Amino acid sequence: MQEIHAVVAGAGIWGCTLARRLAEKGMKVLVVESRPVVGGNVRCEIDPETGIEIHLYGSHIFHTHNDKVWSFVRRFVEFNGYQHKVMAHFKGKTYFLPLGLSLINKFFNTELKPCEIAAFMKDENNSKAIFDAFFRGYTSKQWGRDPESIDPSIIRRVPVRENYDVNYFNDYNQGIPLSGYNSLFERLLDHPNISLECGRAYRIGDFPGTKVYYSGPVDKLFNYKLGELPWRSLKFETETLDISDYQGTSVINYPDISVPYTRIHEFKHYHPECKDTMTMAKTIIMREFPAAWKNGDEPYYPISDKSSQELSGKYLEEAAKIPNLVVGGRLGGYKYLDMDQAMAAALELEI
Ligand SMILES: Cc1cc2nc3c(=O)[nH]c(=O)nc-3n(C[C@H](O)[C@H](O)[C@H](O)COP(=O)(O)OP(=O)(O)OC[C@H]3O[C@@H](n4cnc5c(N)ncnc54)[C@H](O)[C@@H]3O)c2cc1C
Repeated sequence: MQEIHAVVAGAGIWGCTLARRLAEKGMKVLVVESRPVVGGNVRCEIDPETGIEIHLYGSHIFHTHNDKVWSFVRRFVEFNGYQHKVMAHFKGKTYFLPLGLSLINKFFNTELKPCEIAAFMKDENNSKAIFDAFFRGYTSKQWGRDPESIDPSIIRRVPVRENYDVNYFNDYNQGIPLSGYNSLFERLLDHPNISLECGRAYRIGDFPGTKVYYSGPVDKLFNYKLGELPWRSLKFETETLDISDYQGTSVINYPDISVPYTRIHEFKHYHPECKDTMTMAKTIIMREFPAAWKNGDEPYYPISDKSSQELSGKYLEEAAKIPNLVVGGRLGGYKYLDMDQAMAAALELEI
């Protein structure tokens, strides 16, 4: 076996970015990934029948304000300029999120001007009506909590746009890779100094004396000896339909508590540049159902409260005591990270 200077355990966006940096510094890097494929939770699959790119772990839109990330990622893929918009379907009507002039004027059947929004939303009746329609049920389903336990004061922390900007993210750089997400990971790892072993899970004690960068779950690394970190999970149901366009956009949220899913994704809308796919008489939708998590399920969202933060802090302290081990990424750090944040963390890490 050739000499290895560093091991990267986990081929998600954090691990692949790091592997590329290490390789470009002249180090021989072995990437080990427990799944059979690379990409982590950004992994996609091209549907063989329609050619539509399915985001296996829920819709992923690359968006960033970070210029360093934006120039790094574009060395590997070109983006299609897709700008993310999210709709919400409530009681037979469809609204543009986020909370702004479009949603408020349609919901209250009024024609407020930008300068009137702040005062309008200060009225508790108005803010409560918005909260009950668009936030209470959604939050309750997402986190598996009784709707009545959701504190209406969260509405005060939801930013209100005093304009008709319906772009979901504020980031000016956005898009989906023209060549698909999987190509990003394949190209990041396409370097003569990088070798890849899929289907291998790193455990403490593997590769003695070699520096290891690990982005799997931090509690699992220690065999849960201090307890399990809690997560929220998701289940997805995918369906191919014999129509050209199911919902006219990529994501519609369903905040109503009586609807069991939270969102429907329709993937063809992420690639408006693929004219043949857009016009063909088939589409693929995916319903997203929030789910309780138990060990063995896919972890999606950390349930971040005081006790879980304390527990993850203890695990990270344990990890810091192990020579040659660096823990990071969303599972390692036990924190929600957008793709650009995971990439930024890997770009900024001292190596
Ligand atoms: C539903 C949902 C939607 C999202 N949408 C967006 C979005 O629109 N835009 C955005 O920017 N971000 C989005 N994100 C966040 C995005 O998924 C994360 O930023 C990204 O996955 C983080 O990458 P990572 O490398 O840290 O972790 P991961 O992608 O989880 O990669 C970790 C890898 O480590 C592997 N692994 C685990 N244990 C081991 C082990 N012992 N040995 C070897 N390998 C191991 C895993 O199999 C996995 O491949 C979304 C997240 C969720 C949950």
